[in-house]
Amino acid sequence: MKHYHTLYEIQNDLAEKRVSCVSIVQHYLQQIEQKQHLNAFLEVYNQEALDRALQIDAKIAAGAAGKLHGLVIGLKDVISYQGHIVSASSKMLEGFKAIYNATVTQRLLDADAIIIGRLNCDEFAMGGSNENSAYGNVLNALDETKVPGGSSGGSAVAVQAGMCHAALGTDTGGSIRQPASFTGIFGLKPTYGLVSRWGVVAYASSFDQVGPMTNSVEDAALILETIAGPDNYDSTLVQTEVPQYSQLLGNSEKVRIAYYPEVLQHEGLDANIRKQMELLIEQLRADGHVVEPVSFPYLDFLVPTYYVLTTAEASSNLSRYDGVHYGYRSPDAHTADEVYTLSRTQGFGKEVKRRIMLGTFVLSAGYYDAYYGKAQKARRLIRDATLQVLSNFDFVILPSAPTTAFTIGEKVTDPIAMYLADIFTVQANLTGLPAVSIPMWKHPNGLPFGLQLMGNKFSESALLAFSKQLLGNKSDKI
Ligand code: GLN
Repeated sequence: MKHYHTLYEIQNDLAEKRVSCVSIVQHYLQQIEQKQHLNAFLEVYNQEALDRALQIDAKIAAGAAGKLHGLVIGLKDVISYQGHIVSASSKMLEGFKAIYNATVTQRLLDADAIIIGRLNCDEFAMGGSNENSAYGNVLNALDETKVPGGSSGGSAVAVQAGMCHAALGTDTGGSIRQPASFTGIFGLKPTYGLVSRWGVVAYASSFDQVGPMTNSVEDAALILETIAGPDNYDSTLVQTEVPQYSQLLGNSEKVRIAYYPEVLQHEGLDANIRKQMELLIEQLRADGHVVEPVSFPYLDFLVPTYYVLTTAEASSNLSRYDGVHYGYRSPDAHTADEVYTLSRTQGFGKEVKRRIMLGTFVLSAGYYDAYYGKAQKARRLIRDATLQVLSNFDFVILPSAPTTAFTIGEKVTDPIAMYLADIFTVQANLTGLPAVSIPMWKHPNGLPFGLQLMGNKFSESALLAFSKQLLGNKSDKI
């Protein structure tokens, strides 16, 4: 099959009968089979995807196909698809079948997308390398000794390696943008309150968002406008109408961009990434945009604030996995206490347990004010300072991550180093702001890395349009 950059190209070929949904699905199934060792898919819906492709081909012939017809998409294993397993890549939910569709899943199906499988991720979306999955790590298709990033590592590699056309990921602290950067694809974390989390396994509820991971800005726009918008099942959503992002990509206005000198001077930032950021700043100025340094004094508070608050929320969210309601129940338990302790001890992996303990600690009576309360105040300071910057600018530019994809195993024994790698992504989640990772560059080490753009609340159309402008006619993949 020829390489399709955008869904529009697929839809054109479908209209001209040069391909069919069945042949597209067959192609992806073959790719999945060939690239099985990358471990991106935890489950492939072979027959089901083919059956659905046949139905959608019939709809196309009848002129009745939905907006996303021809789209073959994978779902991160935290997004419910009725009748299918959703395990959060955890032993705790091994074999657990979703009893209803997540709103995002339902909207994809209503638009005639074809869901091809369930994608590996870090357990309960906690991690940045996909090494915390109970079902094995995922390999970066560009260099199989490297991680794909995480937690949406399976989603990233499935798109990177052409095993499906697009994927949904979730982003609590960078889990869409960082793997997008590590694999050379486009990823978007929407504004908090734009996309429903109904039916999505919760990690940290005041941070979590679902978003698209794609080869092109056009596809991200199409998918986002399909999944976004009010939902009676998620009260955190804004009630405003969703713009048709895909119709608003042509904007090529000059913009005002801020960057933080503290980021470019950060000791953890790879020298080549710094250089590319500096060159970009010059280029943007030469292109007539306003680009100015703005000091952001809270850089070093971002990661600690994020980890205090998200672990607190996770410890509460994950209390439901108690061996009683659903999920894993230890066969070794004889008493009620043992049902709880053994089920949780055996069902959760190491990182998840670490976070539950940390979260329980920061919420405990004696330490609540010192940690949780303080982190809430820090979050407010960070939010106010960020909004202050964005009151004068359209976007802040940042690297998506301080380095390119790191070596498998390199950080597994050092959780602090792993957490610190989230330094540039967590700001968008702490503040609820939207951000994208744009596949802009290739490092001399051969690996891709992305540019991150963060915008004002609900500025997705501007973010997407400017991403398009930046990528220009550049080929989609790095
Ligand atoms: N790496 C971050 C963490 O481990 C982000 C995870 C996420 O966005 N789900 O928390």
